[in-house]
Amino acid sequence: MSFSEFDIISTFFNQPGLSPDSEQSQNLPLAIGDDCALLDIPVDKQLAVSMDVLVADVHFPLTGDANLIAQKALAVNLSDLAAMGATPLAFTLGLMLPSVDEQWLSGFSEGLRHSASKYACPLIGGDMSKGSLAISIQVHGLIDKGCALRRNGAKVGDKVYVTGSLGEAGLALLYFKGQLSDISSATKERILQAYYKPSPRLKAGQLSIQYANAAIDISDGLLADLGHIAQQSKVKIIVELDKVPLSENVEGLLGKKIALEYALSAGDDYELALVVPEEKSQEMEVEFTRLGLPFYCIGSVTQGLGVVCKDAKGKEKVSSLSGYKHF
Ligand code: ADP
Ligand code: MG
Repeated sequence: MSFSEFDIISTFFNQPGLSPDSEQSQNLPLAIGDDCALLDIPVDKQLAVSMDVLVADVHFPLTGDANLIAQKALAVNLSDLAAMGATPLAFTLGLMLPSVDEQWLSGFSEGLRHSASKYACPLIGGDMSKGSLAISIQVHGLIDKGCALRRNGAKVGDKVYVTGSLGEAGLALLYFKGQLSDISSATKERILQAYYKPSPRLKAGQLSIQYANAAIDISDGLLADLGHIAQQSKVKIIVELDKVPLSENVEGLLGKKIALEYALSAGDDYELALVVPEEKSQEMEVEFTRLGLPFYCIGSVTQGLGVVCKDAKGKEKVSSLSGYKHF
């Protein structure tokens, strides 16, 4: 059977588990099928919108598992909602496909369905074109008016936290380049899991609204992303190197020094960095602990500009590590 654009939509995308269920339809009265989708926004909420474009062989290997690629594509978008403290509402999908590959589309829509159900974020529309494989997702979330966690709110004296260990996803790039031989299948599984299935820290982000002055999700690398907070908040962020939580996997395979480099600059982990005023930090730690959410205090905010690293002796280290840059 030759698939038209409309056959693809009805077969793979307009399906239960991916489209809004009856409860979600109460806020999403119109999804796939018309010129626009319609979203109801409660009067006390703001709509948070974010988009990520994932291009084959730039953001994921062209020959990667379509199911996993779909999960990653949605997760990296949801991570942006998490970083603002927003709750997912729905997403749209722009898809460029070189050809109609039913097997690929079936795996891809299954991966999307899995993540859409898991994070309660249904698909409400999109567009498609023939072209080199690329996936563009736009997520929409809700947040109480005026409560979003911005990058520009960090204040002198605040503490800096991250929500999990860093660097693990960076191993996948070595693996894809064939530079990680001799690893067990369990290790390989863990590496691919970290790369393809990052857990957007939605709960941690939503909870942090009460405590944090600023937040960002770590997509390009810890130092690069903290740099955005420092720049927008006009402050200096000090990172205490011995407090940065390292990936056990990277440390085991490549040693502590490289594990630290990965944690500072590899990116793709999608943990959150949270900047919290001293007087709220204890309450936040108690609440995170109660809910079983990981957190690590890795530094503080001071006067100045930029990001500096300090070693265990308090000596400042200039880091040449920067995050991923496209251009
Ligand atoms: P239009 O020509 O008005 O832009 P389309 O023919 O492109 O509409 O799309 C028809 C319907 O299918 C729209 O509701 C659109 O949102 C939806 N749609 C198109 N592509 C996708 C996709 N990749 N995933 C989900 N929905 C899609
Ligand atoms: Mg259109």
